[in-house]
Amino acid sequence: MKKVLIVEDEVKIARLVRDYLRQAGFDVVEATDGPSGLAMARAEKPDMIVLDLGLPGMDGLDVTRQLRATSSVPIIMLTARTEESDRIVGLELGADDYVDKPFSPKELVARIRAVLRRADATIGGGESVTVGDLSIDIPKRRVEVAGEVVELTTTEFDLLLTMARQPGRIYTRAQLLDAMHGVSFESYERSVDAHIKNLRRKIEPDPKRPARVLTVYGVGYKYADE
Ligand code: CA
Repeated sequence: MKKVLIVEDEVKIARLVRDYLRQAGFDVVEATDGPSGLAMARAEKPDMIVLDLGLPGMDGLDVTRQLRATSSVPIIMLTARTEESDRIVGLELGADDYVDKPFSPKELVARIRAVLRRADATIGGGESVTVGDLSIDIPKRRVEVAGEVVELTTTEFDLLLTMARQPGRIYTRAQLLDAMHGVSFESYERSVDAHIKNLRRKIEPDPKRPARVLTVYGVGYKYADE
């Protein structure tokens, strides 16, 4: 049974999430502030942490930062719509995903399952990546979409490989820039958009309605989960 730690100070939300997760077959432990969340994470060794960003004592971003110094436990942040920049910082600190409040518990459970699935899959070690009808031969730097070879630039290849290795995972522009070995400045981040546009023209049947490389509004991009 997978164990989920919920760190949330709002009693109603914590209870709703706990009940839903138990019903979905998860073992649940809880904390209501940052420091005890951190202590619980260390003592209980959960398989996943659902972490509210606005917490007393120590906020969710600080909890994430401290956790990531020693642990790669999957983290899903609970965020308010007004916390857009925090969301981005959280993803850059290493959180795996976020869910905006108010959220449906069903959606949260689906996200938890998706992140656990990714965490269980071996990452990066292989010589090739396959997602649906996309296949990438890494040593040959060769990409095929629906059996057809697609010619990509080095940058487009690196962007696509980064995202396709973990379908469904959201990458911020700064993280994608990092994958392109670029430097993170706001103006350069816009260059990510330009490369994504070119990549879509090459691999999307309809670049105006992308089905593979998806925009996550206000945050970045992800490769579509199957
Ligand atoms: Ca809160």
